[in-house]
Amino acid sequence: MDTGKRILVTGGAGFLGSFLCERLIAEGHEVICVDNFFTGRRRNVAKLLDDRRFEIIRHDVTFPLYLEVDEIYNLACPASPIHYQFDPVQTTKTSVHGAINMLGLAKRTGARILQASTSEVYGDPEYHPQREDYWGHVNPIGPRSCYDEGKRCAETLFFDYWRQYNLPIKVARIFNTYGPRMRPDDGRVVSNFIVQALENKPITIYGSGEQTRSFCFVTDLIDGFVRLMRSSKDVTGPINLGNPGEFTMIELAKLVVELTGSRSAIEHRPLPTDDPRQRRPDISRAQEVLGWEPKVALREGLVETIRYFDELLGEVAQRAEAVA
Ligand code: NAD
Ligand code: UDP
Repeated sequence: MDTGKRILVTGGAGFLGSFLCERLIAEGHEVICVDNFFTGRRRNVAKLLDDRRFEIIRHDVTFPLYLEVDEIYNLACPASPIHYQFDPVQTTKTSVHGAINMLGLAKRTGARILQASTSEVYGDPEYHPQREDYWGHVNPIGPRSCYDEGKRCAETLFFDYWRQYNLPIKVARIFNTYGPRMRPDDGRVVSNFIVQALENKPITIYGSGEQTRSFCFVTDLIDGFVRLMRSSKDVTGPINLGNPGEFTMIELAKLVVELTGSRSAIEHRPLPTDDPRQRRPDISRAQEVLGWEPKVALREGLVETIRYFDELLGEVAQRAEAVA
């Protein structure tokens, strides 16, 4: 295993970023975590704060950054629809200006750079499952566009830096990923359902609940990231990283209710605009090129995630009791 690199992780205090920082530190690298703490939290990386190989910098990637690094994982960007729609102009800036700044840093330092792109580049897909050669079906002017089009433009920038400057780029298209350390107020479906189930509150299904998603457990995803970064220089991606198991939101809700033993009822709410109807990655490229495929089944990953939220909500309740 190669050790001792200096690695920048933007968005490193977020859900995925914090797992990535931990993994890289455990492998003996130096990690610089850059985050503006919009959705990230210091507590996500609390275990690393005393490690002399770990450094955290409060910085917004829409502004230039001057560091000396060997590798860059560019994860900075809110991922949950409620968070990325809170300030959509900032979301586009984060993807586009953030990519320009991080690509500029990679160009100056000769660093390898990996972009955390998304299955949202496929929009509401007309082909199923989604392969990397599908160009997508994205609304350019809707409420999700700041995220989808921002990420698409970031991919364009990555490939232009590769063609124009021969920069070693890696583009991962991540499908819905879940696990411990998601925020209880994150708004994405897995954390919403689990928190609602644990509190015996209604499970909010948007629309009919027949829409599908594929859910990847966080540790599987991080393994895919690291394999992609270490792949040979000619592997640029884009490469799908996700779990090909496909579930309707009704199936997910029922599984969460079963695993939590909850008394929650199911409640339907309006479907958000442009909500994709189906989503499943074709991961043959990742299997072939990276020798990667996810190992954690949804049921298993949910059990671990439920345990995390159960403890977290317990701590919150204890604090509330202490204050009362
Ligand atoms: P997250 O919201 O937990 O993490 C994003 C991190 O980026 C946070 O720590 C946030 O504070 C930080 N950030 C946001 N804007 C920033 C800015 N301008 N400058 C510096 N830091 C900034 O979300 P996540 O699920 O960990 O997602 C991480 C990355 O992976 C994102 O780029 C997201 O688009 C991508 N992704 C995630 C998923 C998923 O299902 N989790 C799916 C597809 C793509
Ligand atoms: N969803 C839902 N109830 C919720 C939150 C989300 O039914 O409380 C649905 C949402 O409409 C979408 C799916 O779950 O069809 C996944 O939503 P999420 O925000 O997690 O991810 P994305 O839509 O970006 O894939």
